[in-house]
This record gives sequence, C-alpha cells and structure tokens, in this order.
Amino acid sequence: MALLSTEALVLRGYKLGETSKLVVLLTRDRGKVRAVARGARGARSRYQSSLEPLSEVRATLYGRQGAELLRLGQAELLHSAFRAGTRSLEAALLLSGCAELLDAFCPEGETEERTYRLAQAVVRAAEQGASPEMLGRYVEAWLLRLHGLYPSLGLCAGCAGPLPAGRLAYHRPAHGFVCAGCGPASGPELSPATRALLGEFFRRAPETFSGPSGPEARELEAFHRDRIGEHLERELHSPRVIRETRREAAR
Ligand SMILES: [Zn+2]
Repeated sequence: MALLSTEALVLRGYKLGETSKLVVLLTRDRGKVRAVARGARGARSRYQSSLEPLSEVRATLYGRQGAELLRLGQAELLHSAFRAGTRSLEAALLLSGCAELLDAFCPEGETEERTYRLAQAVVRAAEQGASPEMLGRYVEAWLLRLHGLYPSLGLCAGCAGPLPAGRLAYHRPAHGFVCAGCGPASGPELSPATRALLGEFFRRAPETFSGPSGPEARELEAFHRDRIGEHLERELHSPRVIRETRREAAR
C-alpha cells in the first residue's frame, strides 16, 4: 500500500545505477523527501518528462514511515516547468537555481506550505514572462524571510528603534541593519532604491515584476549571496553558472 499520495515539485534528479534516478521532491504534505524512481532513465520510462526540475506532479510514494529513502510509484504531471524554461536561457537558469535553493533551504520531512506556494508562483511568473533576474532576487528574498533570516527593514538590529528613511546599513556582527547611533556599520549598504524594491518584493506577486531589472537587482544579488552563504556555510553552484553565462553573453 502507498505511504502517501501528494502534490510535489521536483527539485533534483541524480542518476542511480543503470536506468534509475534518485529524485528529490518538495511535497506539499510531507516537505522534502528523497525517492528512487526505478527505470526513470530507460527508453520506455513511465515518467517521461515529469521529473524535470520544478515540474509539479502528483506523486505516489511507497516505503516505511520515517524511512530516509522512499520509492516513487506514479508521478502524474500536473504542471510542467517546460514552458517557463523554454522562454530564454536566463529563465532556464532561474528554474535550476530556484530548485537548488529550495533543496538547500528546505529540511527533510518538514511541511512548508508557504515555501511550496512561493515556488509554484515563481514558475508561473516565469511562464508569464516576468524578468528572470528579478524573480531570482524575489525568490531569494522570500526564502530568507520565510526561514526567519531576512533582517528587519524597519527596526535597528542594535537598539530595536525605528530605522531612518534612506539607505540601509548592514552590520555583520548584529546580523541586521543598524541606525547611526549603533554604527559604524560593517556594510554593505543598500541604496534607497534597493530598499524600496525589497519593500515591493514583500508586497507584490512575482508575476508583476515584468520590467527590466536595474542596478538594485545587482545590489541585492551580492547582498543575498552573502546572507545565503552565511546560512548554508557554502556557496551554491547555480549563481556562479548564471554569472558566468552573463559574462559570456556580454562578450
Ligand atoms: Zn540602533
């Protein structure tokens, strides 16, 4: 008998043996799980394209309660990430980066409904043509926030007083933005425009970010990379690939 049947987003797949795959799924009901998809790489695989990163499936999972590794039965495709991924190279890189981030942030076996909905919304926004660069910063900001890691934009991390309008000064030892009285801050600083963009990220749906990205997105890229690196204590692979691709394209 199946252990559970749940909606799930595919995060990653690794080759396993001759024809199988080890897949990492973010399930709606049980958080992140690992499962073996037997025969997933065979020519007549029943999974076909349903195991692509960020595709959404209805997964039937078998195994013991609490087992570290489950077995994937059916994976009925509910929503393919294919259409989003074929819009541009940047959109394809966004999806793989997003899947890597979700895998890194989500602990196994803990349900995260809001994270699940965030990922769904970002795939649909990419499909509708929102800016991949803005979506990348958007998903980073929200993942940090949902995991309690985004510093307050309104209160000083030193004295808990309100932060004045204008630039935000980050102070590493305080893990947050500080007022002038609690400074001098170690940096980096975020410009007033970047601060305003962050406010928009936390207020608006991802598909509304359709315009071109400006210097604010670049400022946030570096800021988020540091915060994510501090949390995970390592650098992720995808952001480096995206930077290299951008350099290559600029030649
Ligand atoms: Zn202060």
